[in-house]
Amino acid sequence: MKKIYVDQDVCIGCGACAAIAPDAYEFNDEGLAQVKKEFKYDEASSDLQNDVMDALEGCPTGAIKEED
Ligand code: SF4
Repeated sequence: MKKIYVDQDVCIGCGACAAIAPDAYEFNDEGLAQVKKEFKYDEASSDLQNDVMDALEGCPTGAIKEED
């Protein structure tokens, strides 16, 4: 099961991920990105999975990580 998460020590809060995949990424009170609790990669539509991976690859600081 693939898990996507944001390393908040690396995130700069640029907003790109939430713009690309708002159903998966949101911001916490500190303005840093996090993956929505209800988001489960394996249960997401393939469109959303693609957007989530586009955001991962496009994150300017490499803060978005995946775990298998
Ligand atoms: S794209 Fe990367 S740096 Fe920008 S808000 Fe998302 S996780 Fe943070």
